Amino acid sequence: MSGILTYALHYENEVNKNSLGAVSEAARLAKEIGGEAHAVVVGEDISDELCQSLGAYGASKVYRAHAPDGLAQPVVDVMAKLISDHGYSYALFGGGLLGFEIGAGLTARLNAGVTMEVTEVKAVAGKLVAVRPILQDSAVVDSGYVSEPGIIIGRLNAFEADASSNGASAQVEDVEVELSEWSTKATMVTRGEQRGAEVNIEDADTLVAGGRGLGKADGFSELCEPLAEALGGAVAATRAVVDAGWYSYSAQIGQTGKTVAPKLYLAAGISGAIQHKVGMQAAENIVAINKDPNAPIFEFSDLGVVGDLNKIIPKLTEAVKAKRGG
Ligand SMILES: Cc1cc2nc3c(=O)[nH]c(=O)nc-3n(C[C@H](O)[C@H](O)[C@H](O)COP(=O)(O)OP(=O)(O)OC[C@H]3O[C@@H](n4cnc5c(N)ncnc54)[C@H](O)[C@@H]3O)c2cc1C
Repeated sequence: MSGILTYALHYENEVNKNSLGAVSEAARLAKEIGGEAHAVVVGEDISDELCQSLGAYGASKVYRAHAPDGLAQPVVDVMAKLISDHGYSYALFGGGLLGFEIGAGLTARLNAGVTMEVTEVKAVAGKLVAVRPILQDSAVVDSGYVSEPGIIIGRLNAFEADASSNGASAQVEDVEVELSEWSTKATMVTRGEQRGAEVNIEDADTLVAGGRGLGKADGFSELCEPLAEALGGAVAATRAVVDAGWYSYSAQIGQTGKTVAPKLYLAAGISGAIQHKVGMQAAENIVAINKDPNAPIFEFSDLGVVGDLNKIIPKLTEAVKAKRGG
């Protein structure tokens, strides 16, 4: 069959946004090449509802495998077996650390062709073509596959979650897979977030991102964090400030950081370098505050505010708090 198999990562009984994007993208592409989109969930205690909920994102069937949570190798075992049993033409991943590890492991196991850091997938004459940026994102290339299965690993959040099949319920099929000897050697000891914030930046609807224009590390705690808190969002950062030790790497957005697609991305004191832009250009609304009217970020902002962020952000924070009654 010319089907597409995706991996859906879940945590605390919810599938993460990045995986929902991969499932939605697989469903869209499967329609175009005339196949079905199926998903795999792997873990120790996965509810029927969680599996069925992927139907809203276009998965017609969800395989549920009982294996240790959060580890890559058991998922490789499960997906390799499903692909060899059912002959999927493609395996698609949303990216993220686990997605990269599973995708790479599956590629090695199946001796398949792989394209990583994919930002777009096209259906051409019944086959999939992966598009990925190269040369520090200054150009893009199309990659086709000469054999099946083709492995496609997206950039984090490159694919948009689309719940337009709302009401549809995926068929759930339990699969028994004998795990490889090495797959059970590692155990998950603990899972935690490196940053202190309660809000996950990949999933946050609102991000307040700070750059070198903040002038000092304390700019984050004095300006960005209060504004993010007032807006109910999270804080992000550029590489320049992460390299300077002003903020944690886990908050870095861009080519060598995370890719995000929030509803609002407020960039404070950020010039808008291409390596930063590639990580946040998918935001629905980009608002930039910069004192330089010629800053490149204004070329791709929906709203540009020219001025000193030290004056603007405290007033904006107060205005947001007043509006929200806090
Ligand atoms: C291989 C490679 C990979 C990279 N990966 C990444 C990446 O993943 N993410 C990333 O972000 N960068 C990355 N970079 C670095 C990138 O090229 C830029 O250097 C970086 O994004 C700049 O960060 P910035 O906007 O904070 O600083 P700057 O470019 O220094 O911009 C600071 C801005 O603040 C403004 N400003 C100053 N004072 C104020 C004020 N008081 N009020 C308002 N505005 C003010 C200035 O006008 C300026 O526009 C990478 C570079 C390379 C070569």
